[in-house]
Amino acid sequence: KNFQSVALIIGVTGIVGGSLAEILPLSDTPGGPWKVYGVARRPRPSWNLDHPVEYIQCDVLDAGDTRAKLSPLSDITHIFWVTWANRPSEAECIKVNGAMFQNVLNSVVPNAPNLSHICLQTGHKHYIGPFEAFGKIKPHETPFIEDVPRLNAPNFYYTLEDMLFDACNKSKGLLTWSVHRAAVIFGFSPCSMMNLVGSLCVYAAICKDENVPLKFPGTKAAWNCYSVASDADLIAEHQIWSAVDPYAKNEAFNCSNGDVFKWKHLWKVLAEQFEVEYAEFDENEKFVSLAERMKNKGPVWDEIVKKNQLTPTKLEEVATFWFADVIFSGECLLDSMNKSKEHGFLGFRNTSKSLISVIDKMKAYKIVP
Ligand code: NAD
Repeated sequence: KNFQSVALIIGVTGIVGGSLAEILPLSDTPGGPWKVYGVARRPRPSWNLDHPVEYIQCDVLDAGDTRAKLSPLSDITHIFWVTWANRPSEAECIKVNGAMFQNVLNSVVPNAPNLSHICLQTGHKHYIGPFEAFGKIKPHETPFIEDVPRLNAPNFYYTLEDMLFDACNKSKGLLTWSVHRAAVIFGFSPCSMMNLVGSLCVYAAICKDENVPLKFPGTKAAWNCYSVASDADLIAEHQIWSAVDPYAKNEAFNCSNGDVFKWKHLWKVLAEQFEVEYAEFDENEKFVSLAERMKNKGPVWDEIVKKNQLTPTKLEEVATFWFADVIFSGECLLDSMNKSKEHGFLGFRNTSKSLISVIDKMKAYKIVP
C-alpha cells in the first residue's frame, strides 16, 4: 500500500495515544492514508489489538532500546508525543522527560529523511506550574491564552518545548512543530497515569456494588464552578490538523472542548450511566478525598471484576484517584480556544456527550460493569 504519511505515536496505549491509534488509520483522516507505528513500554494490551498499528514495545527512557527499535524506521514523517513520566520532584521530571524526548529525537531525526512535523502534547500546567508549585506560585490569569510569558518555575513542559524548538531550528525549516495544551482529558485508557473519567467509572461501580449513593469527593468550589475538559479524540483531531495544515505550523495551541460545564450537572450523568443513587453536594459533611474513600477497596474491585467477568485489572492501575482529588480540589481554570479557531481548527465536543462516550467505551471493553 502507498502511504502518504507515516506516524510514530510515542505513548500508544495512553489516553490520547489510543485515540490517535484509532483515528489515524481511518480512510478519511486528513493527510492519509497513514501508516502508524505505536510505541509503549509494556506488552500490547488486549484492548489495543483492534487498532491497525505496528506495535513497538520499547522503553524510550533507555537510549539503547530506543536506538535499536526506532532508528531503523526511516519512513516516519510525523511524531506524536503523547507520553510522560512522573517523578517525585519537578527537577527529576525535567531530567527524565527530557531524556525520553532526546532519545527519540536522536534515533529518528537523523534516520528519517522525510520527517516533517512533531506534535508535542502538554497541558494547563504550562499556565499554573507543576503539581509541586500549586499554591506556591501565582498562576496566569484565566482564561488562559497561549502567548503569555512562561512562569518563573521549573517545568518539564518548558524543557520539552525548548528541545522541540531546537530540533526544528537545526533542521533549517524542514521540520515544523506544534504544541497542544490540554485541560483535563476525558478518554479511554485503562493504564493512563492520569485518567479522571476512568477513575470516576471505577468509583461509581464500587458505590453501586456497595449500594451507597454516589457522593462528590471534591470541594464546593469544584462542584459549582464552570469547568472545561478535553476529549481525547478531539485532541487527536487537533494534532492531526496541525500535522497537515500549513496554518497550524510552529504554534502552541490550547486544546479543549469549546464548551463549559459544571460537575454538579455531570455528576447526575455519571450516576445515571451506572444506575447508582445520585447525591447532591453536602457542605455539612466532612471532606474525605477520593483516594481516602477508595483506600481499602482493592479486594472489592477484584470481586467486581470476577463477578462481572471483566477484563482483569488491578484497582491501582485502572484508577488514579489522586488525580481526581487534584482536579476536584478547587475551581477549574478555564482556557480560550480562540487561537485554534483563528488558525482554522473548528472542532469541538459537547462535554456531557464526551463523558457518556468514554463510559460506553469503558463498558464495551469490559473494564467496568
Ligand atoms: P498517559 O499516561 O495516558 O499515557 C502514557 C503513554 O506513554 C502510555 O502508552 C505508556 O505506556 C507510555 N510510556 C510511558 N513511559 C514510557 C517509556 N519510558 N517508554 C515508552 N512508552 C512510555 O499520557 P497522557 O496523560 O496523555 O500524558 C501526555 C501529556 O499530556 C503529559 O505531559 C500530561 O501531563 C499531559 N496532560 C494529561 C492530562 C490528562 O488528563 N491525562 C491532562 C492535561 C495534560
